[in-house]
Amino acid sequence: MTPLNPDMTPKSDGKGAEFIFLPLGGVGEIGMNLYLYGYGRAGARQWLIVDMGVTFGTEYEPGVDLILPDIRFIEEERHNIAGLLLTHAHEDHFGAVVDLWPSLGGIPVYATPFTAEMLKSKLSEIGLVNGFPLEIIPLGAHRTIGPFDVELVSMSHSIPEPSAVIIRTPLGAALHTGDWKLDENPLTSAPTDIDRLKALGSDGLTALICDSTNAVRDGVSPSEADVAVTLDRLVKQAPGRVAVTTFASNVARIRSVANAARAAGRDLVVVGRAMYRVIEAAQATGYLDPHLSFLEETAFESLKPRHVVALCTGSQGEPRAAMARIAQGEHPNVSLDPGDWVIFSSRTIPGNEKAVARVQNGLADRGIDVITDTDAPVHVSGHPRRGELERLYGWVKPAIAIPMHGEGRHLEAHARLAEKLGVSQVVRARNGAMVRLLPGPAAIIDDVPVGRLYRDGLVLTRADDGQVRERRKLSFAGSVAVSLVFSEKGVLLADPEVALTGLPQTDAQGVPFERIARDAVVGTIESIPKSRRKDQALVSEAVRRSVRAAVNQAWGKKPVCSVLLTVI
Ligand SMILES: [Zn+2]
Ligand SMILES: [Zn+2]
Repeated sequence: MTPLNPDMTPKSDGKGAEFIFLPLGGVGEIGMNLYLYGYGRAGARQWLIVDMGVTFGTEYEPGVDLILPDIRFIEEERHNIAGLLLTHAHEDHFGAVVDLWPSLGGIPVYATPFTAEMLKSKLSEIGLVNGFPLEIIPLGAHRTIGPFDVELVSMSHSIPEPSAVIIRTPLGAALHTGDWKLDENPLTSAPTDIDRLKALGSDGLTALICDSTNAVRDGVSPSEADVAVTLDRLVKQAPGRVAVTTFASNVARIRSVANAARAAGRDLVVVGRAMYRVIEAAQATGYLDPHLSFLEETAFESLKPRHVVALCTGSQGEPRAAMARIAQGEHPNVSLDPGDWVIFSSRTIPGNEKAVARVQNGLADRGIDVITDTDAPVHVSGHPRRGELERLYGWVKPAIAIPMHGEGRHLEAHARLAEKLGVSQVVRARNGAMVRLLPGPAAIIDDVPVGRLYRDGLVLTRADDGQVRERRKLSFAGSVAVSLVFSEKGVLLADPEVALTGLPQTDAQGVPFERIARDAVVGTIESIPKSRRKDQALVSEAVRRSVRAAVNQAWGKKPVCSVLLTVI
């Protein structure tokens, strides 16, 4: 890659130390946030990792539950990693720790109390919690981690304790925002620490690495408190049962639903394991009243319709979560009737639209009223719109801006906004781009390998291993398996067997595909001179090609074909 300003020679501090930013995930995609900050001379750098998140498999990754960042680079640098700092407990920021931390040589992990509680809950499920080097940093506190002085700044977001991180080195300071918005009344945590951000701007900030999720939207986000008012009103108005689904981690929303239920004289029933996990963590860290009264899902059926609010997991249409099962009428404890209301107090994450639509259509088919954020303000985003970004830039006045946390168009909108606001160096970095922040001017000085890992059942594999690509091919065109038995002299000893999976029975003329495949096999073998039929590789490849070609001619699609050749 070429430097952004090839004409300008970087200034030196005399010792050759550099301050580096290196995104490995989360830039150019939604999810999988993984960022490195480096300090030191080339070849002798120390690294601080900020966040280690996941994203979820879609229909393009059939059978893949979780997608994680490829950490090849971090594994190679394992001995130079000072620690891993988590900005908040959303899956796209901390969901990969459980799977990837074991291969990082026992590095310490730093988190705020709530994030730590959520991580412990995950670690305890796999028996990793004892001896795990988890260090708690309260919001507003400093820590020295390797060569970095790190300070957490309170922000607002859709989960307790979202933090921005000030990362100081002897050369200068960077502000890594994590996920944030401005909300004067976030209902959990303290609001954004605006005074601290302004002071940072007065001290002189080198680089702002900032959330781009809503950089395409003008104005400012509504407050979490506005949602609470709407939920209150809707729960009071509802003629029958009310079920609310939201992200389990949105503790403010859980509290708003609980308050709305109480104000309407209804009992709150909690449905879904993930919801319990968050409620426990929030109670342990003071974000929910330890005496919050709620009933378990087994109580649901015995309650009168006008006396119940169910708080359910499954706002993203996850097929195994509570809401999908309720929509299918298959939930063991919770069933809804025509006239009951379901409120989707959530945003559909890109990629989940079809799954969410399936659940909402299932509910509508059963006569249940579905209310989403297009009907009423039942959800607000946790990310900054342009008006909020402008205010942050005005407070911290960075010399360098690097957009992160967004897809291409979000990043570009953010970059242009930063330019319009007068930031002199706007760096468009993608995953793997090593950015030298200081000595300036900022420049992309290297690129390192990045990629994706799949958690495929119980196995973790690289995305480029190819099995998921093959599975996708199978889903389009099925497979044909051919079994051939030859003597050592190359004589066919039995009729070829073919087994078809996922093909239509017959072609448009009514000819069975099984016959088409078998004829292709027999014809191909006959076309190979007897003297060459001993060459197993040649026979297999010729049969494979001819079956795919013959099926393609009749069907217009090429199945996956495998040839099993036995010589006796
Ligand atoms: Zn995020
Ligand atoms: Zn988040």
